[in-house]
Amino acid sequence: MKKLNPYIPRISATSYPTAMRHRVGHGVTGLTAVLTAGDEFLSKQTMLVISPHADDEAFGCAGTIAKIKALGGKAYIMIMSVGDLKHYDGRNAIVKGKTRQDEFTRTAEFLKVDGYDVVFTEPAKHLRLDAIPQRDLIAVIERESKVAIDRVKPTIVALPAISYNQDHCAVFNAGFTACRPHLHHIKHFPPIVLTYDNPTLFWNVHNDKFHPNFYVDISDYVNVKLKALSFHKSQLKDRLHHCSMETLETLVRLRGKEISVEVAEAYMCYRFVW
Ligand SMILES: [Zn+2]
Repeated sequence: MKKLNPYIPRISATSYPTAMRHRVGHGVTGLTAVLTAGDEFLSKQTMLVISPHADDEAFGCAGTIAKIKALGGKAYIMIMSVGDLKHYDGRNAIVKGKTRQDEFTRTAEFLKVDGYDVVFTEPAKHLRLDAIPQRDLIAVIERESKVAIDRVKPTIVALPAISYNQDHCAVFNAGFTACRPHLHHIKHFPPIVLTYDNPTLFWNVHNDKFHPNFYVDISDYVNVKLKALSFHKSQLKDRLHHCSMETLETLVRLRGKEISVEVAEAYMCYRFVW
């Protein structure tokens, strides 16, 4: 009998409906089954979360980061930009970039990540990452950041999903290019490339809809995830807004039910190589 590769999450094909088992992935994902990452798998991983702004890492990946760390793996976060920002709600007329940076630092330390970087702190670049040449963003992600792919050699790279936010699209495009295949002895090859969830993704054009096909059971880490998000106080909205603590909890509880567990973080998988 063929020995199972311990790095691969166990997937029970029989636990999914026939239609699911045989469905061929469409579009960019190309996967044929829904994957649920197991503990042994996660314990071997080095995850690099690339986040356009301070808070995206918590919205999308805080539970997975906490779980990987608890199991003995490694996690790094690259925040691409913080900057002064005027909010619509008028409560905090202008949130300073320094506030965003401080909130993120508390989050990263709470999650006990192995390293992090905040790349751009100039207000002129915040929410204008689409005006930076893609080549420059790619270089940051590949080799210039303190936690660049070349430096931390991640097994999982988690990118922001394509959305209406111009910074998210710019970082996705640059990150996707940074993960392009090359000869492995010349350029680090992250075997797993994902995009992560966000409560804003419901407002996407049809072709960019977020359809998860990779889940991490974070039932034991939901409080850690919510605590991580709570540090981003300046970004949290009232409970009926889609970017509230309550909505995020609702979202991850729903994601959990999509795979019949209590709570999960959901991802779209662009590459899975073993
Ligand atoms: Zn963002």
